[in-house]
Amino acid sequence: MTTQFKLAAALILSGMIVAGCQKPADKAEAPAAPAAPAAQPVASTDIYPFQIGALQAVALKDGTMSVPLADTPWSDHAGVRQVLTAAGLPGDTVNLSIQPLLLRDGDRVVLIDTGNGAGGTPAGHLMTSLREAGVQPAQVTDVLISHAHGDHVGGLVGTDGKLSFPNATIRMSAAEWDYAKAGAEAAGAGPLLAAITPRVETFEPGAQVTPSITAVALQGHTPGHTGYEIVSGQDRLLYLGDALHSSVISVERPDFVNTWDSDSDAAIATRLALLGRGATQSLRVYGVHFPFPGLGAFRRQDDGFVWVPEVAAQP
Ligand SMILES: [Zn+2]
Repeated sequence: MTTQFKLAAALILSGMIVAGCQKPADKAEAPAAPAAPAAQPVASTDIYPFQIGALQAVALKDGTMSVPLADTPWSDHAGVRQVLTAAGLPGDTVNLSIQPLLLRDGDRVVLIDTGNGAGGTPAGHLMTSLREAGVQPAQVTDVLISHAHGDHVGGLVGTDGKLSFPNATIRMSAAEWDYAKAGAEAAGAGPLLAAITPRVETFEPGAQVTPSITAVALQGHTPGHTGYEIVSGQDRLLYLGDALHSSVISVERPDFVNTWDSDSDAAIATRLALLGRGATQSLRVYGVHFPFPGLGAFRRQDDGFVWVPEVAAQP
């Protein structure tokens, strides 16, 4: 794994390393969040609007991480190549999309994860996608964090080091917040930590974090890694976080050791449980790193599972 990629994808809070600004955010500067207007999204390949029951959701493209086979986190490189080529994909590179999820939940404007950030590697363009979806950053009321890796929290601050979503409460599990604080200095992430600290509120697994969203502990990737289950009427969607990274490798070989997981045995058990539940219940799921827009379901095939995307993947 290259040093650059480690910084981009594996270090705690790495997205803030290049943020540059030392000034903590001043909560008093932030005006009250205005009510979100019903702006119409523009036609764009970087946004994918869809419904979850009565709720309006939008997949927001942030970017794509292209990881050479030798740098992928799966220990069994030959096995990864075999799985990829059997699926008709190039065997020498793993492409992982990044798509945070936007959701209107009553009068709340909720963003789940924030991508790499404009200063990340590769640079994230979430803010452009957000505006294309008809939402201004100041209108976001809640940012839900799955875990504190750079490709999920890097977008919490801009390249000026200031909060990207000045009126939002940043919500993550208490265990993940402890993990982030413990590792931030070593990862060079002190400025980002200082910027977000006044806005962070923690929760315990199983908590209802907004009227329609429940936090789901998905153990193994990081100490407080959290998925989010969104329910509206009879419809539901499970946001997977990084319980599964690849729609091919993680789904078809959930038993492969992934060195990005902090507890590999727990992560494998979580993947198997998710795949089993997903296939049995025909659960609609959202893979933040699956091919954009990341919507689909798991299905049993032979002795394992396959990913069935809801719409054809976009380039
Ligand atoms: Zn990730």
